[in-house]
Amino acid sequence: MAEEMNKKIIIIFTLIITQSLYSYEITPDSIYRHIKILASEEFAGRKPGEKGGKLAAEYIRNQFKEIGFTPLVDNYFQHFDVVTEVKASDNNKLRFNNFIGKLKEDYIPISFSANAALKSEVVFVGYGFDIDKKDFKWNDYENIDVKGKWVMLLLGEPEMDKSDSKYADFGTTRTKVITAQDKGAAGILFVAGVNLNKKDELLSLTFDKSESRTEIPVINIRRSIANKILSEKGINIEELEKNLNKNERPESLETGTILYAYTEVFLTKAKTSNVIGMIPGHSNEYIVIGAHYDHLGMGGHGSGSRKPDTIAVHHGADDNASGVAGVIELAKKISANRKKLKTNIIFIAFSAEEMGLLGSMYFVSNPVVDLKKVRAMFNFDMLGRLKSDNTILAGGTGTSEESDSLLDLHLSGRKLKLAKSREGLGPSDHSSFYLNNIPVFFFSTGAHEDYHKPEDDIDKIDLKGEKLILDYIYELVFDIASSDKKLTFTEAGPKKRSIKGRYKVTLGFMPDFASTEKPGVGVGGVTQGSPAEMAGMKKGDRIIAIDGKTVKDIYEYMTRLNQLEPGQVITVDVIRDGEKVVLLIQL
Ligand SMILES: [Zn+2]
Repeated sequence: MAEEMNKKIIIIFTLIITQSLYSYEITPDSIYRHIKILASEEFAGRKPGEKGGKLAAEYIRNQFKEIGFTPLVDNYFQHFDVVTEVKASDNNKLRFNNFIGKLKEDYIPISFSANAALKSEVVFVGYGFDIDKKDFKWNDYENIDVKGKWVMLLLGEPEMDKSDSKYADFGTTRTKVITAQDKGAAGILFVAGVNLNKKDELLSLTFDKSESRTEIPVINIRRSIANKILSEKGINIEELEKNLNKNERPESLETGTILYAYTEVFLTKAKTSNVIGMIPGHSNEYIVIGAHYDHLGMGGHGSGSRKPDTIAVHHGADDNASGVAGVIELAKKISANRKKLKTNIIFIAFSAEEMGLLGSMYFVSNPVVDLKKVRAMFNFDMLGRLKSDNTILAGGTGTSEESDSLLDLHLSGRKLKLAKSREGLGPSDHSSFYLNNIPVFFFSTGAHEDYHKPEDDIDKIDLKGEKLILDYIYELVFDIASSDKKLTFTEAGPKKRSIKGRYKVTLGFMPDFASTEKPGVGVGGVTQGSPAEMAGMKKGDRIIAIDGKTVKDIYEYMTRLNQLEPGQVITVDVIRDGEKVVLLIQL
């Protein structure tokens, strides 16, 4: 009797355990608990390389451990370096005639300037344009010799206030530097016109998300200093700017001033980490589920804050504590049903997304599993602000043949609606996977008034809404993870990241952002039927020149691309198997 009783108890206990294992419920409360901690004052905006960022990574690791993940990397952390600060050293110098400039008061080196010295004559070259289009030409460098000299030029362009400015592609600082270098200038002095910066403040030394530096010194000087340089000519920047904007043609002139400057800029780096764990399945394939855990820290200029003058904890409850909570909660629910899984499921909390998708780019460049075996990548970035019409954004729907129908299939009977976009490239970590030919599913409830402000707080999170979304995604993930069928990758939208986002011409290849070989831009893949394919471009090629002009890095590539017109025939120099091959491309 007693033994019978024990057996019954054991059976009942087994039932309870199995029951609870198979029925993990995501609740508004379980979501709330993660966001509450991640978006707390103590976590201080989860800045990569700082204490708050580390606390967040540790919190996520503890959750992963609790769930019982297999660590794919050393104790769940995949470390990498990020640039946390750009500093100008005390060795910077600028002087001419009897004037000695003061660092940060009169001048400041640009964050991507070379560390270099130059003593030479200063030549004023307007906006530093070399625009050569069918209907529109403006070359500030014609009829003036800048070889080996300083060029002094205006920041920005004449139509800064117009959204459809015809100069937009030529107004960026990087583009102007490349043009000046092409023309043989040996140093660059940028100055702000009245239109751009009435108060004439110097640029702040902020990291522009690339470690690519120039070969020549590049300095921002104040208008008053520029006018001192021009003093012998009896003209000033204000007048020159007025003429340039009115006449839309060069006003270049030799200033006759000899200037000496030395630039020295240092990047400070700090360690951060992606947090990675896996629930093993029963095949050699994978699904990746990820969300970035970093945010903007205390904000400030250059942080990405939309209130850069307010130094305060940027809580990032929606961006992206909500997404991380989603990853952890899905992991718990999937883990409870892990026996039915075919594929392995890798969970990743990415760092340094806000600094330019650095964590996900690091992961795809240093993968811990074979990326060819990744069936799909799910990325969550802001799941906490479900709109009143229950619409969520679903990105990357065009990146596999099956995506659309799968998304619709599991939507039926739910209160949610989808706003679909086909493109594989978007403003978050899934882009890094799409660029590696992996089907992506990007989910977000979208941007809002508090986006990238300290006010992105937990009290504005729609917890019930997030539960609706996660229950939906769970079914979708589980379907793909337990199926025998793979997804068929399809290309959807451009495969190049654009700075300005508008190109009239395209070569039809995907830059390989992971490639560290220099100089040039690696070809990660070629679009079928594109000009690049027809000209014989191949995956693995490294582009080093377009139309005889150097392509040192992605910035130069985009500058060159902007200068091309549809219909033009151009040469593209590529390095293939160590040898130079010249391709002829009809745009
Ligand atoms: Zn985000």
